Amino acid sequence: MSARQSPLTFFETVCSNFDKAATYLQHPQGLLDQIKACNSVYHFRFPVQTEDGYEVISAWRAEHSQHKLPTKGGIRYSEEVNEDEVMALAALMTYKCAVVDVPFGGAKGGIKINPKKYTVEELQRITRRYTAELVKKNFIGPGIDVPAPDYGTGAREMAWIVDTYIALNPESLDGSACVTGKPISQGGIRGRKEATGRGVSFGVREACNLAEDMKALGLTKGLEGKRVVVQGLGNVGYHAAKFLQEGGAVIVGLAEYEGAIHNPKGLDVDEVVKHRNSTRSILNFPGATNIPKTLEALELDCDILVPAALENQITGENAPRIKAKIVGEGANGPTTADAEEILLKKGIMVLPDMYLNAGGVTVSYFEWLKNLQHVRMGRMGRRFAERSMGQVIEIIEASTGHSVTDKQRQMLVKGPDEEDLVNSGLEDTMIVAYHEIHEVWKKTKNIDLRTAAFISSIDKIATSYLELGIFP
Ligand code: NAD
Repeated sequence: MSARQSPLTFFETVCSNFDKAATYLQHPQGLLDQIKACNSVYHFRFPVQTEDGYEVISAWRAEHSQHKLPTKGGIRYSEEVNEDEVMALAALMTYKCAVVDVPFGGAKGGIKINPKKYTVEELQRITRRYTAELVKKNFIGPGIDVPAPDYGTGAREMAWIVDTYIALNPESLDGSACVTGKPISQGGIRGRKEATGRGVSFGVREACNLAEDMKALGLTKGLEGKRVVVQGLGNVGYHAAKFLQEGGAVIVGLAEYEGAIHNPKGLDVDEVVKHRNSTRSILNFPGATNIPKTLEALELDCDILVPAALENQITGENAPRIKAKIVGEGANGPTTADAEEILLKKGIMVLPDMYLNAGGVTVSYFEWLKNLQHVRMGRMGRRFAERSMGQVIEIIEASTGHSVTDKQRQMLVKGPDEEDLVNSGLEDTMIVAYHEIHEVWKKTKNIDLRTAAFISSIDKIATSYLELGIFP
């Protein structure tokens, strides 16, 4: 499925965004052409035995850029998967990784199936066979190409992949780093599930913390009290809403496919999820107004709109009615190209997907590092840090005659565990990247934040090629 409704294909659209940004850079055309090209696409078919007999399955893995290795990107199971889509998503992964300084090239894979139509055993067979095909062609490995979950896949599929890879490479000491998004017991990392939504909240908060930008939008500085509408209560949307709420924002609207709810006084995200789990619908939440036409939730009066469900949600048709001052793209490609033009003309700030939803790949990078180090983050230093801080407190207490309470002591001495370190690394990544993009945005006249993110990303990739001396 094309992520933007336009005469261009999805990959062509990504390339046209690239070309727009490249006009602001002085790099040789040959180098720009190399960065833009999709280096390799492997399209293969394999048979699988199902309850109804044999079926031939179509699958892809695209590796867009090997300027950094390994390449990295999710695997999606969807009937919509096609070659253009995996190439486009692989390209976006290249640019996304560069924006947040994750040292990977971009890749993406897909299997053209509707996973709901298969039994768990069949899905396992398909996943293991897909992995074996990638191994045969050197399209997977800790230093080659490292997949992750995407639409229709999750920790379960990643566990099958790592198990198959290690079975075929029994001497690979680093085999568990061949894929990320694994269950913790298979080498996964704490905080990965929440990472994209948490990253969205960090990115939105950072944008809101710049007083001058907020003033230009007619808003006050900070997240506190900002009215937020979130579309999609899945992994990204739920965590984004939850962490934005914890950061002081007021969630005034939530939209799911069955409808949306609105309460200008605020909705408690966890209570809404509980209500949806028990009634199978977001609608009829106590105190909230129902919006049966779910897409209309995007037009609610709010400060921040976070589309976190699917692509092509803000289009040329509904963009003129969007009232938010900030659109934070949690999903990939939620805004069509013509819609973006309209939003920008209305003075709306668009925080681009390429930056805003990069939290997932950032924490996948931490998982890969953990697998290569063969040790859980925090394991070596946590107790040492706790003991040292305890001694500092004792010395201060002895010299001042004042004692800290037990609660204060607990808070002060707590050494960082794996999740603390992951969240801290994610927060730092999102803050640093935002300011890099922001600096480009401010110093380049008449561009938007998406173009600024592309410029920042292309420049970093170009520099890494230039420093290799490949392009004099
Ligand atoms: P998900 O399947 O967990 O959640 C999507 C949610 O959107 C579901 O709850 C679904 O019911 C809801 N939805 C579907 N159609 C809808 C509609 N018309 N209106 C409102 N809600 C609707 O998926 P996810 O992992 O949260 O991914 C969401 C988006 O974020 C996708 O574009 C994905 O590519 C992107 N993304 C995800 C990650 C990640 O780490 N999960 C990382 C980067 C980008």
